[in-house]
Amino acid sequence: MGKKLVITACLCGAGTKKSQTPYVPVTPEEIANDAIACAKAGASVIHIHVRDEEGNNCMYTSKFVEVIKLIKKKQKEEGVDLVLNLTSSGSKFPEQMRLNHFPVLKPEMSSYDPLSMNWANSYIFTNSPQFLEKLGVELQELQIKPECEIFNGGDMANVDYYVKKGILKTPVHYQFVLGVTGGMPGTAEALAYLVPKMQPGSTWSISGIGRWHLPCILHGLAMGCDGLRVGLEDNIMYEKGVLATNVQLVERTVRIAKEVGREIATAAEAREILGLVNHDAEVDYEALNPADYIEEDLRLMGK
Ligand code: ZN
Repeated sequence: MGKKLVITACLCGAGTKKSQTPYVPVTPEEIANDAIACAKAGASVIHIHVRDEEGNNCMYTSKFVEVIKLIKKKQKEEGVDLVLNLTSSGSKFPEQMRLNHFPVLKPEMSSYDPLSMNWANSYIFTNSPQFLEKLGVELQELQIKPECEIFNGGDMANVDYYVKKGILKTPVHYQFVLGVTGGMPGTAEALAYLVPKMQPGSTWSISGIGRWHLPCILHGLAMGCDGLRVGLEDNIMYEKGVLATNVQLVERTVRIAKEVGREIATAAEAREILGLVNHDAEVDYEALNPADYIEEDLRLMGK
């Protein structure tokens, strides 16, 4: 039997709006419910962004606390294990705000975007050198595994740079996110270029944006990926003209993977495959209070 497959569910991202699909979770309750449902359907890693009261992207620690508390509570109630992967992206926000939630919540994983780019020709996806150094060091200190999101060929060279500088440690985990306009397309050719450029002993996962969703699942499985990422952050369609739910995307991925001989990793198995450290015993999630972080959130936003 082949190695087990780690499925990551990226529930809402920063940009997917209710006006595009009613299925995208944006409130803490909706995000937590989708996290649990996706974990039950076969996802072992849940990638989290949070939204403000209006449903817009935000990086408030207070919101992360609210969402994670709720997920932990529901996990307990329903006996569901899952790995939390919190985003560090957020070009519109102060860099400190993109770091503040990690020491408070100690997730097992964080995204790490090793370069800036013109995102879909709409805004600059900013990751300054100073921020990347700070984030890498902080994640190491907290024993949070960086997931290096790769959009372009140059990202690979920058991962090498940060490994050489000791800002990132090996084994590296790569998350190829292909098909963003401004990045590499979700073709087999693109993946065939990227995979041999990984650090030795690395693990990797792949996601295709929009119409690249299914091709990337198939390319990934054909090339022996460790993981697949699916969810409404990256793609809102199940098929042409039919909107998807996060659970449906996870369920289909499970079916496809099993058909080609890949068993699905549990959260415990994902921890082993990705070399994660679980910090649940270090944080009293029930005792955390979102209100304790609002003042600092607003100060950072200049409000
Ligand atoms: Zn994300």
